[in-house]
Amino acid sequence: MTARIIDGKAHAAALRARVATAVAGFREAAGRAPGLAVVLVGEDPASSVYVRSKNRATAEAGMRGFEHRLPADTGEAELLALVDRLNADPGVDGILVQLPLPPHVDASAVITRIDPDKDVDGFHPVNVGRLASGLPGFVPCTPLGSLMLLRDVRPKLAGLDAVVIGRSGIVGKPMAQLLLAESCTVTIAHSRTRDLAACVRRADVVVAAVGVPGLVRGDWIKPGATVIDVGINRTDREGGGTMLVGDVDFAGAVDVAGAITPVPGGVGPMTIACLMRNAYVSACRRDGVAVDGRVDASGTPG
Ligand code: NAD
Repeated sequence: MTARIIDGKAHAAALRARVATAVAGFREAAGRAPGLAVVLVGEDPASSVYVRSKNRATAEAGMRGFEHRLPADTGEAELLALVDRLNADPGVDGILVQLPLPPHVDASAVITRIDPDKDVDGFHPVNVGRLASGLPGFVPCTPLGSLMLLRDVRPKLAGLDAVVIGRSGIVGKPMAQLLLAESCTVTIAHSRTRDLAACVRRADVVVAAVGVPGLVRGDWIKPGATVIDVGINRTDREGGGTMLVGDVDFAGAVDVAGAITPVPGGVGPMTIACLMRNAYVSACRRDGVAVDGRVDASGTPG
């Protein structure tokens, strides 16, 4: 069997187009554009690339972007004061502070300072609690995008065995909550898990969010399972240069799985598309405008 390759790029482009249509409707109803503020502290090259892509996507969606680039030595108090100003600004519907922050800044203090109703990244403890309680809030963009891709290939998730490898607050834990809400039987595996291969062999759905290239071997995958590879790892390419690979040994898994996301071009592009979706939804909630259902793949939470 050769797995169906899940085209995250195409899914993300389609979601972004639907968000742009919905934003046009919002602008007409509310008389203003949704606004997304992005805060970048320092010059981390990967973060700068992400922020540039986010700004481009914001403009393409018809939203207003507010970019705040601060020097690496910006103090925590100054950053918190900026968050306070963005919280109070009626034109700002979403606030994203790009992680990682420099070591002298307490990232958790900054995230906790963001108004939970503008926390489009879904990292604020209030939104973590809302997700765990099944209340509307904001769901972190990468797991939300992963769920959208998964739902597209497996519309009936109830009762399936799912393993999430990785327990970070950004991907693993919220992903496990989302799968639990879909009535999957969820195992969360992590660095101290004793027999990862056995966990994966039982699973109908495998979500890998680890950061170890090729950790999940093809012969661990249950035939027909759906594999969502969140990992993005830069490795050396044979013959020179570097390449991006996931946490799953794609060449080994593709012959066994029923469907699989490639790296790159799988989950990655969904993250920014879901950020646009969350910023639009935030604007709708704040102005009392009905959310256009087309921004969600059937019953998207948060
Ligand atoms: P993290 O470092 O915060 O967490 C990694 C998790 O993997 C930890 O919970 C750890 O317990 C677990 N782990 C480590 N080694 C393990 C092992 N040998 N066996 C089982 N579990 C192990 O990482 P993160 O932020 O959750 O990111 C994970 C991966 O996803 C990275 O490759 C990252 O680049 C990628 N990522 C992609 C996107 C995107 O697609 N847009 C977004 C976020 C993260």
